[in-house]
Amino acid sequence: MDRKVIAVFGGTFDPPHIGHLVAASDACEALALERVLFVPAARPPHKPGEVDTPPELRLRMVELAAAGDDRFDASDIEIGRDGPSFTIDTVRELKGDDFETVYVIVGADGLAEMTTWKEYRALLDEARVVAVSRPGFDFRSAEFPDAGAVRYLEVTPIGVSSTMIRKRVAAGRSIRYLVPEVIEDFIYEEGLYVESD
Ligand code: ATP
Ligand code: MG
Repeated sequence: MDRKVIAVFGGTFDPPHIGHLVAASDACEALALERVLFVPAARPPHKPGEVDTPPELRLRMVELAAAGDDRFDASDIEIGRDGPSFTIDTVRELKGDDFETVYVIVGADGLAEMTTWKEYRALLDEARVVAVSRPGFDFRSAEFPDAGAVRYLEVTPIGVSSTMIRKRVAAGRSIRYLVPEVIEDFIYEEGLYVESD
């Protein structure tokens, strides 16, 4: 890709679901992006002890989900790094790799937490932060003081979360249509989420 523009979509992705994919796809369209990098976090700084699906399996799922779309890629940039994952480090690493413009896509719930992120003012400066809407969260929340530095994007509302998927698997309910078929197959093959969190 020679445009040297890339978008980063970080998360736990335990598992990736259609909410992630539709949000990324709508962001691609709205921002004329050619490439979105799905970046599973190693140890999510805001979820200590909450995730026990190994990073390698979450990466594998993100690879499977991204493989179905030419615009999407999976990256091990954060799980390959020691310690917890910070978006600012990822942005700087991509800029060091010659990407001129780095977009950071963050869902409405993530945006509300962003002021607690490492060097968040630098992040607003060095990346173009794009907040995507998510059902159940007010993404124009007044608690966020730097609203002017963020681009707000209404995306197709999909009320699906990874927590919902994990709970449905644990309860023996169907997850068909809520995750790509390859992800559904992978979850059952690996026996993930049989015990609920
Ligand atoms: P969990 O329930 O485990 O927290 P999740 O569904 O929130 O999982 P994450 O991996 O935590 O998924 O989210 C990664 C990013 O995707 C976050 O920025 C989040 O806001 C965004 N996101 C997740 N689900 C949706 C959705 N349905 N619509 C829009 N954005 C979403
Ligand atoms: Mg979440």
